[in-house]
Amino acid sequence: MARECDVLVIGSGAAGMVAALTASVQGAEVILAERAPTVGGTSATSGGVAWVPAHDRDPSIPLPIEDALTYLASLSNGTQDPALIEVFVRSAPAMIDFVEQHSPLRYEIAKGFPDYKPEHPGGRPEGGRSLSPIPAPYSGVGEWADRITAFPKDFSNVGFDAETRKRLNAAVDGVEEIAVAGQALIVQLLRGLLDRGIQPLTGWRGRHLIVEDGAVVGAQFETGAGEQEIRARRGVVLAAGGFEWDPELVVAHLRGPMLGPVSPPYNTGDALRMAMAVGADLGTMREAWWVPVIQIPGDTHEGKVRSRSVRLERTRPRSIMVNRFGERFVNEASDYNSMGGAFHQIDVTRFEYSNNPAWIVFDQGHLDRYGFLFVPPGGDAPDWYHRSESLDALAAATGIDAAGLAATVAAWNEHVAAGVDPQFHRGQSAYDGYWGDPDAPDLASRTLGPLDAPPFYAVQVQAGAMGTKGGPKTDANGQVLHVDGHPIPGLYAAGNAMASVMGMAYGGAGGTLGPGQTFGYRAGWHAATGTPAPVASL
Ligand SMILES: Cc1cc2nc3c(=O)[nH]c(=O)nc-3n(C[C@H](O)[C@H](O)[C@H](O)COP(=O)(O)OP(=O)(O)OC[C@H]3O[C@@H](n4cnc5c(N)ncnc54)[C@H](O)[C@@H]3O)c2cc1C
Repeated sequence: MARECDVLVIGSGAAGMVAALTASVQGAEVILAERAPTVGGTSATSGGVAWVPAHDRDPSIPLPIEDALTYLASLSNGTQDPALIEVFVRSAPAMIDFVEQHSPLRYEIAKGFPDYKPEHPGGRPEGGRSLSPIPAPYSGVGEWADRITAFPKDFSNVGFDAETRKRLNAAVDGVEEIAVAGQALIVQLLRGLLDRGIQPLTGWRGRHLIVEDGAVVGAQFETGAGEQEIRARRGVVLAAGGFEWDPELVVAHLRGPMLGPVSPPYNTGDALRMAMAVGADLGTMREAWWVPVIQIPGDTHEGKVRSRSVRLERTRPRSIMVNRFGERFVNEASDYNSMGGAFHQIDVTRFEYSNNPAWIVFDQGHLDRYGFLFVPPGGDAPDWYHRSESLDALAAATGIDAAGLAATVAAWNEHVAAGVDPQFHRGQSAYDGYWGDPDAPDLASRTLGPLDAPPFYAVQVQAGAMGTKGGPKTDANGQVLHVDGHPIPGLYAAGNAMASVMGMAYGGAGGTLGPGQTFGYRAGWHAATGTPAPVASL
């Protein structure tokens, strides 16, 4: 006999968990079904930060709604629906309050974390909009502690490396017992669900929606025990992430190369296909949460090539990025999402991507002072880094144009000596300095430094993503819209499974989990009650 509930949530990342929590608090009987053997999805492997652009949590940090709207509009380039943006801005603080009221999850302001384009109108160079989950003990979720999605704790650029945790005010010691960052987010949301009697189903892969009389009334799942059905009396929320792990969907929809997803390998576009099969209209399909990535030879996770985002390595001094012509092509210290555009640039004469793949080139001074990837400061580089005593030899080893590289490094060193980057303005934005050398005397020197201490190193870097942004279009309540324009009765979407309201923007740290959870809250509320979730009165 089919299982039954009021609200069925498919996917147990933060968007799905917030939807499940909200629907349950609003009186619905909820089932949360997850494909993986563990819960939490990408959200559990993330920094856990939520960007909430208008809130009043700290009276000394004024964050009016108008500023948030102005700022987001400055990042739109015509890709946002202002009405949905306003719904996000006004609902996000209400979502945070709601989650804190109904689960043990607590947030604190990640003080000083600048927005990603902080000098834009309405932007915040001094931060205040990024909220970090407060660390929490794994013991709070009992036997579920071993069933939270995680990458091996070797090293990671976001989430678990000591420097990042320090910056996010997350505890650095006792990481085995204390959940930090995205682990804290998921542990605490899960606690909230378990406290309400919701035990997630794991190993349940949603495949098809069940439609009766034009309304979605449940879904069919592949499980270890064969095909199963779950019926939902009030609604189904698609929260099964994006399609970054499906190469065909990636090529069909994304605007440029995406060669390295950094999420766990379960987001294969199932929600997208389920929504398409019932006539959903689609939006934001070309966009992803872009990030430059490196791949370590032989590094796999669950049988798939693993990609690691690079942030500190391209931001700190004595390191630049060049294309195969040896030319710099971007402000290396800028935010990862905007950088996607530079990797997607086409050389119209050659008809090829000019900057993908590219190379991070750095010198011994960089390695000695900052380390690189998992190599600690002063440590030895592994064999797979290209290493040469001269730039010419480095160019020969990598295939980078030697004359181009020599000219680029000469110009770079000259500009650095003058304290400026006239080409790409690296070191001018508050964001550029944030992940730079904290001991440097001024903003520019946090990120500018010469490449003059051989040997020189090069590591290949290419376009990747933390997840995709496209999916079924929704209204303000998270209801999926049919291609004919009307909401499909009984169907909702949230998080990376929905057409992101952000368009091509990434407002600041937490720019994906902020809107993802906000629409989880709105979808869960509406599915349970048939009425819109309240917004904050700021
Ligand atoms: C290293 C890293 C750090 C990051 N840091 C941040 C950060 O600090 N702040 C921020 O805002 N963003 C961050 N991001 C991005 C952010 O983590 C994701 O955009 C966000 O977690 C997406 O949330 P979601 O709930 O939509 O999807 P997910 O968290 O990916 O959850 C989707 C879930 O659905 C499951 N699923 C897939 N298919 C099915 C199916 N057919 N049936 C059932 N279940 C299914 C998946 O297994 C998964 O558990 C980071 C990403 C990475 C990789």
